[in-house]
Amino acid sequence: MADLKPCPFCGNAEDIEMQEVQADHYIQCLECEASTSCVGSRPEARELWNRRAAARADGGVDKQLRTAGTLLSNIAFNLAQDERLPEEIRAAIDFARRGWDTAVRADGEG
Ligand SMILES: [Zn+2]
Repeated sequence: MADLKPCPFCGNAEDIEMQEVQADHYIQCLECEASTSCVGSRPEARELWNRRAAARADGGVDKQLRTAGTLLSNIAFNLAQDERLPEEIRAAIDFARRGWDTAVRADGEG
């Protein structure tokens, strides 16, 4: 669709389509399947898609993801110390937390 910005995730600008499921509308990238959430109208879906594409372009979504991820990492750190939880659950939480921390460090900040 001509009035939709390129996909914020894969950059595809061609195969982006308005999808309709009963009264719900959402926009989906046919290349990577990224989509907006379902909203009540076509203009709303278009607005949602284009707003996210713009935020991604100026680093806004990356910044929000980093902030949310750091918060979750701190929560995960505390959960992994909680001896009321089964050992394998604590190990899984700690594994995920270390993965996040490593990714953020590799990305240059945090
Ligand atoms: Zn895409």
